[in-house]
Amino acid sequence: MTPSAQTPRPRMVVPKLVEAHCHLDKCHSFHRLGPVGGDLRKAIETQAADRDNWTEDDLRARAGQGLQEAAMAGCSALRTHIDWRDTASPPRAWSVVTELAQGMAGMTVQCAALMGVDQMADATFCNAVARGIAPTGGVLGAFVLDHADRTAGLRNMFDAAARHGLPLDFHADEGLGDFDGVEAIADMAIETDFAGPILCGHACGLMDKDTATLARVIDKLARAGIAVCALPTTNLYLQGRAHGTPDRRGLTRLRELQAGGVPIVLASDNVADAFCPVGRHDPMEALHLGVMGAHLDPPFGRWLPAVTTHAAAALGLRPVLVKGSSPRDLLLSTATTTADLVAGRGSLTPLHEGPT
Ligand SMILES: [Zn+2]
Repeated sequence: MTPSAQTPRPRMVVPKLVEAHCHLDKCHSFHRLGPVGGDLRKAIETQAADRDNWTEDDLRARAGQGLQEAAMAGCSALRTHIDWRDTASPPRAWSVVTELAQGMAGMTVQCAALMGVDQMADATFCNAVARGIAPTGGVLGAFVLDHADRTAGLRNMFDAAARHGLPLDFHADEGLGDFDGVEAIADMAIETDFAGPILCGHACGLMDKDTATLARVIDKLARAGIAVCALPTTNLYLQGRAHGTPDRRGLTRLRELQAGGVPIVLASDNVADAFCPVGRHDPMEALHLGVMGAHLDPPFGRWLPAVTTHAAAALGLRPVLVKGSSPRDLLLSTATTTADLVAGRGSLTPLHEGPT
């Protein structure tokens, strides 16, 4: 017997991953967009001009590609935002993704409505949206920056989500600068004593808070039970643009948030669209980029919940722990350290069909 035969190869078992924030209606459209490269507002304009191409077949092909990528990356759950226009009924992409999700055995797919929080200031409209998405397991969401009627929009969203039992999800303060949307969301959550899960994506504006303000906002987020999701690909690509090479990082205060008891999540966000011309639906890749962008130091076991248990809880799903879980909920990696795992070295396969 050779020494190698006597020594079992080390393996690592981890929960399946959770893709907590992406955009299946926009993904894989980059090839037809023309010039891409600019800040958030430029990306919104460029992507909006592509909407005429969003036929049912087009959406099915691109969103299907995104879902397959997530499955290949080892995901058991995925939340996609769906752009919402000004009608109360769900857009075409909602039904396309819902239909695709039914063919994704072993993956939970959530759709989150995405529109300006100012649209939600109309309580009748907000209620109609919430009532319409509730039977589909949908998530009530909005883009929150310095909108007019922001407070009224948030209040209506929290009321409607409580009434219909919906999770809440926000694109909040997606920009470097002195924004206060995250704090407004935390204030509303505390005031309304909202019981459901709340996920705040981006929160880039926390980078520009002074120490005392940051501590106050983190305390409110922790008390409100709000999870914060960093999206490194899109925010490193879009934020901090001026001339030439950027000298700022468009992330959020991941280290301070975690130290303050706020569950942090990392996700893929935009993939091959006007907001990010590269990327892929792979939460581990998002964590890998977060390690460099936000200085998430080893040991990496303390950051893995950002793409597993914390991400699941933020989506209102049962977090999967390795101990006591079904092999169907777990992944097997040939990586021998968490650093190798996060770096993408070694295979990552479903445990129940992994290598023997
Ligand atoms: Zn997003």
